Amino acid sequence: MTVTLLPPTTGYLGPIEATALLEGPRYLRNPTMSYWHRPRSGRRDNADQVITYDLWCGPYVRGHLALTTETVPPGERVCATCDGRAVGAGQEGNGPTGRTLAFQPRYLTPPRFCPGSRTQMFAELGGGRVGQCLVCRDHHPLRAMGGPYNAFYGITQHPPGPGLVQPCPFHRWKALTARDGRIYCPCDTELGRPSS
Ligand SMILES: [Zn+2]
Ligand SMILES: [Zn+2]
Ligand SMILES: [Zn+2]
Repeated sequence: MTVTLLPPTTGYLGPIEATALLEGPRYLRNPTMSYWHRPRSGRRDNADQVITYDLWCGPYVRGHLALTTETVPPGERVCATCDGRAVGAGQEGNGPTGRTLAFQPRYLTPPRFCPGSRTQMFAELGGGRVGQCLVCRDHHPLRAMGGPYNAFYGITQHPPGPGLVQPCPFHRWKALTARDGRIYCPCDTELGRPSS
C-alpha cells in the first residue's frame, strides 16, 4: 500500500527539472537512519530518474537507497515528528487511540487574496471600469494604483474565485505572471484551469 503525497513545495522559484510524485511508501528510511520515517512529498528527476522523498521531519531520502515497509516490525522505532504530522495532516487516519492529532501544512490551501489582486493581470471588459482577473476569472473593479512614480491601472484586491488556476506542484501560487492571457509560474510552467 502506498500513501498519497503532498506537493513538493519549495522556496526556490526557478525551473525544476523534476516531476512531482503523487504516491510514496508508507514508511521508509535509508540504512543509516535509526528510525522509520514517513514521506511528505516526492519527485523524480527528469534527467537521471532518481527519486527523492522529503520527510515530514525535514531531511530527504533517495528512493534507490531507501528501505521501505508497510508495517513497522515490532520493536523498531518510528520518528514521532513524521508519524504525528502524517496523521495530523490527513495522510493517514490512524493516530494514537483517544487523541486527535492535527497538523496544517503550509502553502497547500489557496491564498486569502487572489494573486491577481492589485496587478495588471486582468482583461478589460469594456468601459474600463471592470476587469476579468486572469488568475481566477472573477470580475472586479479597476483602479489607479501605485505611487506617483509607479502609477498603474490594476484590478482591486479580491478573494480567489472558483476559476483560480491550478497550483504549480513546486511553487503553488507564488509570483505568478500573465502572458497572452495565460498564467505562468516563475518556473515557466503554465498553470491550468480547474476542470469543472
Ligand atoms: Zn522523520
Ligand atoms: Zn483573481
Ligand atoms: Zn513552478
